[in-house]
Amino acid sequence: MAIHTRIIDVTRKPVKCPVCGGEVVDIIYGTGDMTETEFFLEYRKQAVMGGDTIPRRPPVWACNLGCKRFRKVNYDGTDAPVRVKLLKNVRPAPSTVINWQSSTVAEALESGEGDMVRTYLVDFVSEFGEKETFRCTATSREDAAETIRQVVAHGRTGLVSPFIEVTNIREEQ
Ligand SMILES: [Zn+2]
Repeated sequence: MAIHTRIIDVTRKPVKCPVCGGEVVDIIYGTGDMTETEFFLEYRKQAVMGGDTIPRRPPVWACNLGCKRFRKVNYDGTDAPVRVKLLKNVRPAPSTVINWQSSTVAEALESGEGDMVRTYLVDFVSEFGEKETFRCTATSREDAAETIRQVVAHGRTGLVSPFIEVTNIREEQ
């Protein structure tokens, strides 16, 4: 993420980046050297990392592709009062906001077996006893369980436990 992106004054959060059309997300401060990917894995939200230095006139939103930052101003151009978002106040979104997809899904869709494709909620317990529920689109219950086992084992979820015990798999209604 380039640090010296230009800052644009806005009176409200833009729906999308006026330059590249990218999504506009919050800037989170107090993030040290945390990367956007690390933040996403841990908090399951898109945001741009502001690091530990809060500028005197801080931009509060950014294009998630990194091209522009946005500072909130009043209609007369003066600085609007803002509360910057701090990492310590961010709560993780529920784990089920992310939908994992089995590698078998694309194949099933291509070969006309799309009716096998369902979305499952997979409950599991980590080896440290943490209970989680992940969402997964797959071609069977077993396929959903195996997909979740693999994404956890490969450390893609922010969970530190590489081994999980799947306790329940149910179809999402
Ligand atoms: Zn942009």
